[in-house]
Amino acid sequence: MTRYSAWSLLRAGLSGQRTWTPAWRDAKPKKRYQAVIIGGGGHGLATAYYLASKHGLRDIAVLERGWIGGGNTGRNTTVIRSNYFFPESTRFYDFSLSLYEGLSRELNYNVMFSRRGMWSFAHDRHGIEMLRRSVNAMRLNGADAEYHEGEEVFRRIPGLSRSGRFPILAGLLQPRGGTARHDAVAWGYARAADALGVDIIQNCDVTGFDIREGRIRGVETSLGDIVVDRVGLAVAGHSSVMAARAGFRLPIVSYALQAFVSEPMKPVLDTVVLAPSTGTYLSQSDKGEIVVGSALDLFPSYAQRGSLPVLEQTAAGLIDLFPHFSRVRLLRQWAGIVDVVQDSTPILGESPVKGLYLNCGWGTGGFKAIPGGGFCFAHNIATGEAHPLVAAFSLDRFRTGALIDEAAASGIAH
Ligand SMILES: Cc1cc2nc3c(=O)[nH]c(=O)nc-3n(C[C@H](O)[C@H](O)[C@H](O)COP(=O)(O)OP(=O)(O)OC[C@H]3O[C@@H](n4cnc5c(N)ncnc54)[C@H](O)[C@@H]3O)c2cc1C
Repeated sequence: MTRYSAWSLLRAGLSGQRTWTPAWRDAKPKKRYQAVIIGGGGHGLATAYYLASKHGLRDIAVLERGWIGGGNTGRNTTVIRSNYFFPESTRFYDFSLSLYEGLSRELNYNVMFSRRGMWSFAHDRHGIEMLRRSVNAMRLNGADAEYHEGEEVFRRIPGLSRSGRFPILAGLLQPRGGTARHDAVAWGYARAADALGVDIIQNCDVTGFDIREGRIRGVETSLGDIVVDRVGLAVAGHSSVMAARAGFRLPIVSYALQAFVSEPMKPVLDTVVLAPSTGTYLSQSDKGEIVVGSALDLFPSYAQRGSLPVLEQTAAGLIDLFPHFSRVRLLRQWAGIVDVVQDSTPILGESPVKGLYLNCGWGTGGFKAIPGGGFCFAHNIATGEAHPLVAAFSLDRFRTGALIDEAAASGIAH
């Protein structure tokens, strides 16, 4: 792997940009692998990277039916945070956040992690109680959180409206929260995994499984069959589809989640802002676009497209927070299919089929979990044991009833 550095940039610049080599090989599938990861999103690629770098497995393939990062990883609004309620969640997401903090250096690839802080607001007395409770829980669980009231919130976020439909009474700030460049996360992991010998195979649709006596023996793909006895499934919104092909059901419902960006502007917003009243949240990208996220579509669907009603509702929420954006033009709108679990906690670990492991149920918040999810999933696939950080996230909790109900506790709606 060519190491990227200031010197390599200078050398390439002086030679007319002719010295760059492809960031990863265009690998063709082999007949047999030690381990296969299905899904070339952030989670699949990170898993392959940590399998190779931390566990020494090199004979691995990532099978992606489209292009890497073309799923939710390349469609999300890039918010990174660990503002959860239960210790299990905060511990895991905070670990993931800490991996993000050193990721550019680890991968030798600039993922543009920007620790710009994230705010969420309270609009009434009940909201204030919720914020205070969240701040206390986060601090007790080791995450950073600050509670601010009234004027202090407006002082810190210039342009925030004082006369919106939902008054802003207080805010929870997580200073270590922020954003990263989503494509760069996928590309950085892909490049580093490839350098360790991982085959990244695009345009390879996994169409079925070879399962005998309850154990995985191989996968069937549009590029031929592969013999393998360790398979990681990291296909986000298509987890239920793949589980059905393997003969079991998952407690997942898939919905479209929409987002849009404005035309680029000069820097006007230096933090991430979420208004629970409308579900609207926003940040400004490095290119200057205002990136705005919506709440989930109200009905299950596999249609990856935006819709006018959601756009109108989200834009109304945006203008309510920042009236001066009312004359900004929109550039693009899109959607991704997210896999929502009833308790809004992911599913990581064993499936009913031996040797087939699950990484799914991230819902609307799995981008921030990519480093942590990949790290723990790799541990699971390599050792056969769940990593202690995610042991509570097993599918088995739907049998035992030990749910981690973040949907109720931290007030996240999905
Ligand atoms: C609009 C939107 C905004 C979001 N905002 C945020 C945010 O701000 N912060 C945050 O933390 N999270 C956010 N998320 C959620 C986050 O994007 C996802 O949880 C995360 O990207 C999931 O990563 P993944 O690698 O599991 O899935 P994906 O990136 O979707 O990768 C799965 C891959 O599997 C492939 N695949 C599917 N079926 C097959 C098959 N049969 N064979 C081979 N390959 C297959 C797909 O093509 C896809 O590339 C958002 C999501 C959306 C849609």
